[in-house]
Amino acid sequence: MSIRRLPETLVNRIAAGEVVERPASALKELIENALDAGAGAIAVTLRGGGLDGIAVTDDGHGIACAEMPLALERHATSKLPDEAIERVRTLGFRGEALPSIASVSRFTLSSRPRGADGWRLRCDNGVAGPLEPCAMPFGTRVEVEGLFERVPARRKFLRSARAEYAACLDIVRRLAMARGDVGFVLEHDGRRVLSLPAGQEREDRVAQLIDRELADNHVVVDLEREGVSLSGIASLPTFHRGSADHQYLLVNGRPVKDRLLVGAVRGAYADFIARDRHPVLALFLTVPLEDVDVNVHPAKTEVRFRDPAFIRGMIVSGLRRALDAAGMRVVNRAEASSTDLWQRETAPAFSLPLEERSWSASPSSGGGAYGGTPLLADGQVRFAGFTPSARDDAGAREAVPAERDYPLGTARGQVARTYIVAEAEDGLVLVDQHAAHERLVLERMRKALVDGTVARQALLLPEVIELDEPACDRIEARTAELSELGLEIERFGPAAVLVRAAPAMLGLADIAGLVRDLADDLAALGDATSLKGRLDLVAATMACHGSVRAGRVLSVPEMNALLREMEVTPHSGQCNHGRPTWIKLAHGDIEKLFGRH
Ligand code: ADP
Ligand code: MG
Repeated sequence: MSIRRLPETLVNRIAAGEVVERPASALKELIENALDAGAGAIAVTLRGGGLDGIAVTDDGHGIACAEMPLALERHATSKLPDEAIERVRTLGFRGEALPSIASVSRFTLSSRPRGADGWRLRCDNGVAGPLEPCAMPFGTRVEVEGLFERVPARRKFLRSARAEYAACLDIVRRLAMARGDVGFVLEHDGRRVLSLPAGQEREDRVAQLIDRELADNHVVVDLEREGVSLSGIASLPTFHRGSADHQYLLVNGRPVKDRLLVGAVRGAYADFIARDRHPVLALFLTVPLEDVDVNVHPAKTEVRFRDPAFIRGMIVSGLRRALDAAGMRVVNRAEASSTDLWQRETAPAFSLPLEERSWSASPSSGGGAYGGTPLLADGQVRFAGFTPSARDDAGAREAVPAERDYPLGTARGQVARTYIVAEAEDGLVLVDQHAAHERLVLERMRKALVDGTVARQALLLPEVIELDEPACDRIEARTAELSELGLEIERFGPAAVLVRAAPAMLGLADIAGLVRDLADDLAALGDATSLKGRLDLVAATMACHGSVRAGRVLSVPEMNALLREMEVTPHSGQCNHGRPTWIKLAHGDIEKLFGRH
């Protein structure tokens, strides 16, 4: 075949493959255009998750009638006046969104600039019609129907309306987060989902978009260095989620999903949060235009920094400072070499052969801040926001039991309301009460799940938990499976679920936290995997919420009961996140520490 230039419609469809993958990506382009047009209010209407219809209406500067056909031409843009792509301030600049979307849908562009009449231009899968006059308020309205109807190969890859809606909601949230000055309204299938007034205070918008409880559980980030500024709102380490989906990162007003930024956030919280938990935050980074390249990805969701290490450092120190000011101090601990003496998992009673495991215990391999050495590997100890305190009471004066019966010894007291100090025949034992208890609950939970004997306990008052609609949808689709696991839950209106019963062994668990995390787990699982196949994940999430929290005062009998149960429970030497649950310092090693050897 000889070489030929492709017809315009085909070129646009090819580009559409990159720019518009699904309804949410088309929606993203349309809202970005509205923001670029200086809109003060944007209304988004979706039908069937955006698969049936998307409409975006703004009150921006509009498009002059004569230029409307040009807006649908490829590489036609009003946003690069001096051909300097390095200095682009707008969200768009490639001039390919509208022609791409119009080539794969039934597309209508209506616009009316100030002081002019309104005009409408329709385009049916790449074939533009004539300009027609239309009555409308100032601004622009773009309607997209039947996306990919004529491109079956694409249509096949789209997911359920539910999943596409979830992706659309995420896009609206991220752009609304970026622009608190602009009002947003979102409607889906005739129901109003979001209504955000223009000019909202940042804290209010963040709380409204992520979680209202964040209002009382956050620190304010504010740092400026060498022309770069970082501001935002980040959750306290005690307020975390099971996935990083609730982290919003904005670079010069552009929502990005950047691994560098995500890694920096992880680093900043490493000493305070378990590896598989994630803080909730909205961080706004303002960088000089010449220090960041936004033209890395057709959908513009990634950016490239001229000095990535500097930006990473900014985020880590910005977050650390804010947490520090809130009393989350990271204290340097004694010489690392002395802690090498601490041992763990030494007692033979603790290591059952693999084949006796009810199913694969899958503590994450540790790694990062928690891998390798018994305490935190980076030479630091964490005190999560409270003054260290030690207790001693009468019950703690019992004689030390023989090591072969009780390898973890007898409780002597509690430190920082988090660690149990015990004396064993051969040394000093420290136990992380939350990690240890979580492990025990997990093992019980697993056994009960496998045996199909999860006892459930009805809640005195059914608990209503507010979640966003996609999260409720995911839970609703799994209610039968969740009920087998002891959680009786049902849909309660568009954006809430109702819990009637929970697994009895979880005790007074934080049901709302549990349900939120399960919703995150379900998002990670996707629609295809059955819960039964991932019981370990579900059991771990449940155990995490059913455990004695760090910070709770325990009586000596309670502590001893915990130690005894650990001794007879398989895999209890590691918590569900792969960290040790207890460590022991042998008598001989204590002597070494004091130079008596
Ligand atoms: P880009 O945003 O990269 O310029 P698009 O294909 O998204 O490319 O849009 C093409 C042009 O159409 C824009 O440059 C802008 O001039 C105009 N346009 C698109 N949407 C709007 C809108 N909502 N309001 C005003 N002008 C718009
Ligand atoms: Mg655009």
